[in-house]
Amino acid sequence: MTLTATPPDALRPDAAGNAPGLIESALLRVMAHETRVTAVHALSPRFRLMSLRGEALRRAAHVPGDKVQVRIAGMAFRTFTPFRLGEDDDALELLGFVRDGAPAGDWLGAVAPGDRCHVLGPRRSMNLAAIDRSTVFVGDETSLGLALALCGTPLGGLDTHFIFEVADAVEVRAVLEAMGRGMLQHASLVERRPDGSHLLEVEASLKRYAGADSFRQYVLSGQSLTLQRLQRVLRSAGARPSQILTKAHWAPGKIALD
Ligand SMILES: Cc1cc2nc3c(=O)[nH]c(=O)nc-3n(C[C@H](O)[C@H](O)[C@H](O)COP(=O)(O)OP(=O)(O)OC[C@H]3O[C@@H](n4cnc5c(N)ncnc54)[C@H](O)[C@@H]3O)c2cc1C
Repeated sequence: MTLTATPPDALRPDAAGNAPGLIESALLRVMAHETRVTAVHALSPRFRLMSLRGEALRRAAHVPGDKVQVRIAGMAFRTFTPFRLGEDDDALELLGFVRDGAPAGDWLGAVAPGDRCHVLGPRRSMNLAAIDRSTVFVGDETSLGLALALCGTPLGGLDTHFIFEVADAVEVRAVLEAMGRGMLQHASLVERRPDGSHLLEVEASLKRYAGADSFRQYVLSGQSLTLQRLQRVLRSAGARPSQILTKAHWAPGKIALD
């Protein structure tokens, strides 16, 4: 399903009927950029590709790997990874993972072209533009946007091996194919098991990569405890801290981690 931009006179005031009150509006004017949603593509039941456009984005310096915080309801914000698909300086794309019953999932399910969307940032999170060597990228469903941002760097993720820990490999494969970006289409997808045993496969891959090339870069994002586990494996396989970029996207029991 693809929803495209509506004419300006049909602009909806806000997503999901969560228009801010007077005090909130005053605060948002000071702290956030106002953007408009120009397109929403339902790439699969649980992934939404969204385009945002706003004059303020033209002025905001953006480095691949930055984060934005998007207002999803009232004064609640959730973090996403912006990337650019086109050349438009006033536009950013986000790829959101929809989880039923979670505030971000509710917002992603309701957002439509023409909605007003308040954004904090872009702000620094992980500087992917600085990567100048072969890379192994490990993430989960929340990391597809970061992977697309990596594909937008000068090296373009060309010499990157992508590994994603996911609930549904068929769904994520279809999303990666729809995005059609270089090595992303050859990503390894490892289906999550409740006892965490699927991570043994990820660990074995990381050990192989670390053993074959001692200069490789590692980019890890996703669940905090998984990252700690994978970092330990990389360190014991000889990788230096400077070779490992990590960013926890969520932690069990924690709301809006970042
Ligand atoms: C720097 C950064 C960049 C990010 N980029 C993206 C992005 O591009 N796309 C994207 O979809 N997400 C991204 N995320 C992750 C997203 O911000 C979090 O998953 C966020 O918590 C989602 O909000 P929520 O309303 O679903 O859940 P919350 O209300 O924040 O949390 C409710 C509960 O759900 C749990 N939870 C949160 N996320 C998950 C998950 N993925 N799987 C299982 N349980 C979860 C929490 O631990 C908590 O217990 C990013 C996070 C960070 C820090």
